[in-house]
Amino acid sequence: MIDNNKISKFAISVVQELQKNNFQAYLVGGCVRDALTGLEPKDFDIATNATPEQVRKTFKASRIIGKRFKLVHVFNRSELLEVATFRSGNDQKDGDNIVTDASGKILRDNNWGTLEQDCDRRDFTVNALYYCPVTKKIEDHNDGLKHIHKKVIVSIGDPQRRFEEDPVRSLRAIRFSNKLNFKIDNLVKDAIYDKGHLLSGISNARLFDEFCKIFLNGMGEKNFEKICSFHLNKYLILSDPNRNDFASNVMTHALRNTDDRVKNQQSITPGFLMAALLWPSLLKKCSRNGEINVRKFFRSMDGVLREQQKITAIPRKFSSYIKDIWVLQLKLHSRIGSQPYKTLRHPRFRAAYDFLLVRERASGDKSGIGKWWTDFQKNDDSLRGSIIAEMNEKSDEESAKIFGFYNELR
Ligand code: ATP
Ligand code: MG
Repeated sequence: MIDNNKISKFAISVVQELQKNNFQAYLVGGCVRDALTGLEPKDFDIATNATPEQVRKTFKASRIIGKRFKLVHVFNRSELLEVATFRSGNDQKDGDNIVTDASGKILRDNNWGTLEQDCDRRDFTVNALYYCPVTKKIEDHNDGLKHIHKKVIVSIGDPQRRFEEDPVRSLRAIRFSNKLNFKIDNLVKDAIYDKGHLLSGISNARLFDEFCKIFLNGMGEKNFEKICSFHLNKYLILSDPNRNDFASNVMTHALRNTDDRVKNQQSITPGFLMAALLWPSLLKKCSRNGEINVRKFFRSMDGVLREQQKITAIPRKFSSYIKDIWVLQLKLHSRIGSQPYKTLRHPRFRAAYDFLLVRERASGDKSGIGKWWTDFQKNDDSLRGSIIAEMNEKSDEESAKIFGFYNELR
């Protein structure tokens, strides 16, 4: 049923090596699910009854990682595989290896178990299929194959309890349903509504990872819509209850831009999305009557980033990227003298220009600044000079508008 050509040769060799050493070993999770649904599997996870130490000993190029969830990275020059030991998912044997907090959230899970037990601690039935590339058999203890056939995301066990254990599963259900084009089972939907609020207790580091998986996988716009329909957006994105139309449009258009880039295999970054989604909050903090105060603009940037950081972490390299994009928005509005040449040479010019276009689309702005920059980039130096000269003539009337973001502040 699964074509082994779709599976990484390295992953198959690691499974074979473990089996040669008398361990059980299977490909598991996303790669099996994706191969069965006609998608291109991207990362290959392996499940085994060998302990992390035994796996480590079997492969020279490997290292044990993680504390909360110990596993082994096995790698060659170009690939990295995650090899995880079967876990029992319950703490009956050894209370120390599974730790939960007062709400039932799992804080640590290092209690080894059997394949059957390992199935039960996974989130959704379609994610609990174990494939042996040697016998080509699939182990399916929770009707995952049936649910793939019926195109539905079903929880393993009572979703209310499972989402208490790990609230991030609600975001995962939404992500997989869009990725696979599957429905979400009604019990899972109810659990998302009932337990979604527990996402407020998840660390900002983990939510940043999830933010990236949800919004940078090429389905960002669709995922955003579904997340909003379950009212979960506030657990990922700083949002203002009185936000205007521009604030929701700018997120949609920024996600559409990112989705298109994924489709065209161009580079993408969470920084671009963060710059877009926080932009309305920044404008709000530093503007009055449709005019922004430039000094306040600069002073407000860190504050806005800090507010989002309470929700999702923002690694430092992205904070400086985001601030560059913001400051360049001001520079893109001033188009006289030598300023446009300097702006064009800025290493983040391209991203800032893309964001300018996103802002124009989101606000319905027709002033043509984006078009001006499109022309300015295309032209050779002599033409550029005349574009700027033209601008200089208009400059009185235009400069009045320079820092006016009327359409975005309405
Ligand atoms: P993708 O890589 O496309 O996001 P995936 O299914 O591979 O999808 P991973 O996060 O890589 O997702 O996890 C691999 C497997 O580990 C999952 O298929 C699932 O079986 C299990 N798993 C991951 N996260 C959880 C979780 N929060 N709760 C229960 N099981 C999980
Ligand atoms: Mg995966």
